[in-house]
Amino acid sequence: MITRVARRCRGFSYPTIAPGSQQHKTAMIARHLSTSGTAAAETDDGEEEVEEKPRWPGGGGGGGGGNRPRMRPADARSPWRQQRFPPQAKAGRCDPDFRGFEVVFMGTASSMPTKFRNTTCIALRLDGTTYLIDCGEGAQRQFTQTEFRPRTIDRIFITHMHGDHIFGLPGVICMIGQQGSPGRPPTQIYGPVGLRAWLRTTLCLSEAGVPNKYAVHELVPPGGQRRSTRRGLSMLMEDPPHVDELPGRDIACGGDGLWLVHQDERYVVQAGALRHSVPCYGYVIAERTRPGRFSVEKALAAGVKPGVSYAMLQRGETITLPDGRLVRPMDVLGQSRRGRKAVILGDTCDSRSLLDVAQEADILVHEATLSDDIAGEAMKRGHSTSTMAGNFARAIDARKLILTHFSGKFEGAVNNQRFPDQIQNLNQDQAGGLGYSRSIKDMIRAARQAFGKPDVIAARDLMSVPVFLSDEPPVAKSAP
Ligand SMILES: [Zn+2]
Repeated sequence: MITRVARRCRGFSYPTIAPGSQQHKTAMIARHLSTSGTAAAETDDGEEEVEEKPRWPGGGGGGGGGNRPRMRPADARSPWRQQRFPPQAKAGRCDPDFRGFEVVFMGTASSMPTKFRNTTCIALRLDGTTYLIDCGEGAQRQFTQTEFRPRTIDRIFITHMHGDHIFGLPGVICMIGQQGSPGRPPTQIYGPVGLRAWLRTTLCLSEAGVPNKYAVHELVPPGGQRRSTRRGLSMLMEDPPHVDELPGRDIACGGDGLWLVHQDERYVVQAGALRHSVPCYGYVIAERTRPGRFSVEKALAAGVKPGVSYAMLQRGETITLPDGRLVRPMDVLGQSRRGRKAVILGDTCDSRSLLDVAQEADILVHEATLSDDIAGEAMKRGHSTSTMAGNFARAIDARKLILTHFSGKFEGAVNNQRFPDQIQNLNQDQAGGLGYSRSIKDMIRAARQAFGKPDVIAARDLMSVPVFLSDEPPVAKSAP
């Protein structure tokens, strides 16, 4: 039982730390972590567990920035500050030079922000570029809590038009434009019909500028009809574009029931319609099949000298040797390897449109707004429970499931000090000791049971989850 004594100060209520309380223990642990990096802690279940050093994105192991102090010494000295400002939120945990494939949760609340959660916003960092999925109010400030560089955001994908998913968008695209270097490409934004008019109106009426320009591409429902039944929407669509707006595409639904939203030489983004109270989409971001590993031994045996020829072969080009012999990529490359795949869904109570394209996702981000005991209410509002999320994860044979978009009623007694900054191994929460509130723990257990795997975790604000490369051959539903 945690003892709390409320103390009034300038209109706010601050809890005091009672010696021997859980918060007091946490402060002691934090102090220990700041010097040793490892602590033995007592779990909520009363069991003893060893908490590992937090690992930073791109850190590998040991030096080179891989492991940094969990929190600044000043934080460790001040239990007050730990209580009010979670350490990961203060210091930020995103390597600015990260290269790889990583999901960063900038906001994990549904409906409205809570003390520890901002509204929905997810950053997918992809080898130097960043895709943003949804952009709830306060997203700009979340970026300031990390070392994340918003100017790396090239594309923004909006799942639906509810405010907790879009109210931060105008500010974020203005920020990207102001932080970008001269000549930075325009920001490409994708989303439901109505997004273009809403953004245009907001930017025009606030006389805001987007120095690097922007374009909005809308996903048009099957049949080609534009949804213009809302008050004034059809009229707004005829307004002249914002001065910084570039023409956007109307993206039609394909014969497979999916929208081909974006593709380039490395990634393919497809969308499927979800069942929610307004038009809503889930996005599948898939890395294209990667070539096999380059064999230096085979290249040397074939008479290829190191240098430009190696790069040409790796790019899939056939080269001609000075003696006239041809060396093909297949002569020096191993078997093709599967690309990584992230499935990030908007609000949903039915995601079956994505069953095929989402198969064997490396990571599935699924909303779990409500708990199973109020599943009927969840369905009625077009939302999911954690069991529903687990069922979908099982149906697509996902590798990892991350739950997010929690109702504020689950804030509970979240313990922010004992949660790792980056999740390398989703099984590490087996003991349930990572600081979830009791109800969130229950949701994780339910999701694991439905999923049939332990690889489930609940997202927290500013948490990052890397997706690693593997040498496995491509799967049937990989990106083309
Ligand atoms: Zn919604």
